[in-house]
Amino acid sequence: MHVNLNSPAYCISFLSILVAVTKIQTVRIFVKSKLTVSLSRMIQLLPKLSRLSLVIILIPCFCLKLQAQQQNFKTRQRNLKAKEQNIQSGSSYSPAKVFLPEFYQFPGNRIRTAQGTPGPDYWQNYVNYNLSVVIDTALNTLIGSAKLTYTNNSPDSLAYLWLQLDQQTYKADARSNFLNSTPQGQHTAGYNFSSVIVNYNGQSFQATYIIEDTRMQIRLPRKLAPRGSTIQLNFKYSYDIPGDFGNRTDFFQTPHGKIYEIAQWYPRMCVYDDQRGWNTLPFLGPGEFYLEYGDIDYQITLPAGILVAGSGELLNEAEVLSAKELKLLNMARQSDETIMIRSAEDILKSESKYRKPDAGLKTWHFVMVNTRDVAFGASKAYIWDAARINLPDGKKSLAMSVYPIESAGSGAWGRATEYLKKSIEYFSATWYPYPYPVAINEAGTAGGMEYPGIVFDGLTDKGKQLFWVTAHEIGHNWFPMIVGSDERRFAWMDEGLNTFIDIYASDEINKGEFAPKRDGEYAPGGGNPSDEVIAYTTDPAAPTIMTAADAISEKYRHPFAYFKPAFGLVLLREQILGKDRFDYAFKAYIHTWAFKHPAPDDFFRSIENAGGEDLSWFWLEWFYHNWSLDQALAKAAYTNHDYKKGIDLSLLNLQQMVMPVTLEIMFKDQTSQFIKIPVETWLLHNKYDIHLPTTKEVKSVTLDPAHSLPDINRNNNTMSEIN
Ligand SMILES: [Zn+2]
Repeated sequence: MHVNLNSPAYCISFLSILVAVTKIQTVRIFVKSKLTVSLSRMIQLLPKLSRLSLVIILIPCFCLKLQAQQQNFKTRQRNLKAKEQNIQSGSSYSPAKVFLPEFYQFPGNRIRTAQGTPGPDYWQNYVNYNLSVVIDTALNTLIGSAKLTYTNNSPDSLAYLWLQLDQQTYKADARSNFLNSTPQGQHTAGYNFSSVIVNYNGQSFQATYIIEDTRMQIRLPRKLAPRGSTIQLNFKYSYDIPGDFGNRTDFFQTPHGKIYEIAQWYPRMCVYDDQRGWNTLPFLGPGEFYLEYGDIDYQITLPAGILVAGSGELLNEAEVLSAKELKLLNMARQSDETIMIRSAEDILKSESKYRKPDAGLKTWHFVMVNTRDVAFGASKAYIWDAARINLPDGKKSLAMSVYPIESAGSGAWGRATEYLKKSIEYFSATWYPYPYPVAINEAGTAGGMEYPGIVFDGLTDKGKQLFWVTAHEIGHNWFPMIVGSDERRFAWMDEGLNTFIDIYASDEINKGEFAPKRDGEYAPGGGNPSDEVIAYTTDPAAPTIMTAADAISEKYRHPFAYFKPAFGLVLLREQILGKDRFDYAFKAYIHTWAFKHPAPDDFFRSIENAGGEDLSWFWLEWFYHNWSLDQALAKAAYTNHDYKKGIDLSLLNLQQMVMPVTLEIMFKDQTSQFIKIPVETWLLHNKYDIHLPTTKEVKSVTLDPAHSLPDINRNNNTMSEIN
């Protein structure tokens, strides 16, 4: 048996032996001294002859007594040894803790079914936006109007509406300032509303509203009726665009002009759903967004000469682009190779003192259909290139990158469009077709950050790093832009699922040019994820995957929102369900929840139902707890010491986490045999014995030979020198 000197079980058994031995010795000394005193007194009182006969009688008795004591000591020692073995084999593992007959708190219903799909009564609300804003590039302010048309499809009457005012998070008194011990030093004044008007039932009136941190409540004089009634909200507003402290949205200076990265830039409806009604968690920073779907028509007005790269289709390209740019753009729509539309040379030429500067303002008009959000970048410093994206069923989209001259080059942003195009083609072919007409990779300081149809990536990113961040950020178009989960509560539902699909994107794209994915999101040490994840799961201060997004500190954000859930899905796919069953179930989840709002249980139920397994043990041990896995080989010996009679094996599960077992028997003739033992083995035991009928001599026996499981102690996984 392989003993791990560091294991707590070993320490406990060692201590108990020490205590027990000390106790026995004390008893022996006590008994011995009592006997000696009483004997010597009696002997002194007797005549000489009688003394002699008494000694003759007593000596055998005394010897018998000593022998009995010794026997007793040996038995107790044997018992202790047995107990020690029991502790080693039993450990802390309890099947009842991990195999629960009832994992789900609520049964399925007509809104969300037990099989994890939207039910016949599923509903969600929709909101269409008409936005029109001007960017004042001298003052760095955004001034505009927003018209929202909100449809209440719920069965409930709504007495009030809640909106998200994310710009409030930059205010000096915002709640977000109290999340970290070093609060943000720079602030803005947040939104300034000059009017909020409600149109409802043919009436138009000034809204009664309150603003509380990053939320606005509009109190309605009459309730918004259920099941399909609509209401219109009209805002006139402005705000100062945050500088590079904005994190997810900002402006900053580059040598050839300012770059604006504009997001969370209009009042957005909070989601009203069947899970908790209005979702009003404030915007504190770590927890991202939860948004309704709808169509967004938006117009951006700013000085001519500035290029705007926005989510969705540009409706008036002939008005805002030069004839040359239009021609090159149309070429890119037909090209798998990246076509340069606005080059470094073009930017330098536009700065020439001999050239008449662009005068006046231009309005860029975009529309995006069935989306949770839109964002855009704007700069005269942008190089612009593009290439066609080939989607399933012959459909096309367009990949574009915009980046400053300083980011150019084939080792850096010169390949950004290729990375974007290939990631989208891979995700579309594998999981779900990309639904939007364009995809943009924008270089700035707000990256990596994802929005529907546009991602903000780091302008200094290069090589593999740029590929990984591009694949990851555009991968968010599947989670949560297509599968619209609640990021503010459950960070793993978008980060974890997205990181999971990114792992295989790295393996496949350009025949693994960027494989394996090893970055800040996944196995950051560059090693085997099954080893690297252990440092986090055994950290007693660590959160779990299910911890609220805003309650996961920066130290644990990547390990628990990205790495652990993504590696968990790798375990499910490669060790538990197998690739075919997992992929079928995962695809079913994406397709049934596309453009809808799945909750964690919907994901768990989807995988269980389409995969055909009760996986509550896995959700519990990996998502709800940080339990550890230690599979051990306790015995590997020939039956009756004769290899022709086969080999007897004993497996132990020493910690609370369970997994199916893979055993490799290596024979001395260099052949090997694999044995798979299902997870159900651990329902009834912590020790499992197997007899393998073989007639060959065995070289070694190894548990988890591919090194795929997060086994905290690999020293007890192999046995050689079998006899
Ligand atoms: Zn992400």
